[in-house]
Amino acid sequence: MTSLDDPALAALGPRLPSPVQEVADERFTRRGLRLLLKRDDLIHPELIGNKWRKLAPNLRAARGRRIVTFGGAYSNHLRATAAAGRLLGLETIGVVRGEELAGRPLNPSLARCVADGMRLHFVDRATYRRKAEPDTLAAVLRAAGAEDAHVVPEGGSNALAVRGCQELGAELGEQADVVAVACGTGGTLAGLAAGLPAGRRALGIPVLKGGFLTAAVEALQKEAFGARRGDWWLDDRFHFGGYARTTPALHTFAEDFTARHGVPVERLYVAKLLYALVALAEEGAFPRGTTVAAVVTGRPFPDHT
Ligand SMILES: *Cc1c(COP(=O)(O)O)cnc(C)c1O
Repeated sequence: MTSLDDPALAALGPRLPSPVQEVADERFTRRGLRLLLKRDDLIHPELIGNKWRKLAPNLRAARGRRIVTFGGAYSNHLRATAAAGRLLGLETIGVVRGEELAGRPLNPSLARCVADGMRLHFVDRATYRRKAEPDTLAAVLRAAGAEDAHVVPEGGSNALAVRGCQELGAELGEQADVVAVACGTGGTLAGLAAGLPAGRRALGIPVLKGGFLTAAVEALQKEAFGARRGDWWLDDRFHFGGYARTTPALHTFAEDFTARHGVPVERLYVAKLLYALVALAEEGAFPRGTTVAAVVTGRPFPDHT
């Protein structure tokens, strides 16, 4: 079962399998490496990248019920869920971290959510942190008027989403030896690693600080498949200080990558991934003859590059 088997989703015209593009980048070629870009950013203009892969099975499971989900003030996942609601005629409710945001003008990302019909419900940070606990979740859903809604967790990562991301690995098949992806919750990596054929490896680059992601990915794989799956590892050195943190060097790197290859580079995730791959190539982490694929999971948002 793929997202294309669902008529409502297929009618949105996703570009699946997403294109694979080889780029000639001398930082790789001179070390005998090939660099492929898996262009998930081209799957759909609004349900971008891994957000399509993770949301599609949840949209199907919702069966027309309202969808409630969770995110920060700049969450790509909230925007994708809101867009899906508009495109499919589903009601959506977004629980947003930060009670103090409630009385203020909305940032462009949240304004986009509201324009797409999402109802926002702001909660304080302490409550938000505990939202996976059943009592807290029940109280939040009650306060948000979302008790009967289909619940999609923060970042969209649940067992359905993880299984949806297996398709990413299946599409890549034998094309690359190592497939690298930037990680927030780790749901995309969990599915990707499970979907790759034997002998192919998946590398996750966490964009959050904290070193909790190995356990999180294992837990997601356990939830989705009953056990750890595939051959994957993490490199924790490229978060640049944490979520949404960037440095001038990272911006320069991203601008240079776009100038070289004409590919827009999303800053919160994709820039850190590509930066990591260049650094790893320079360190000699990949043997000559290795083909590395980078999953381009997103596109720059106009107001938050
Ligand atoms: C949401 C997002 C991710 C993180 O995906 P996880 O499954 O949460 O690890 C990566 N890249 C982009 C562009 C995203 O929007």
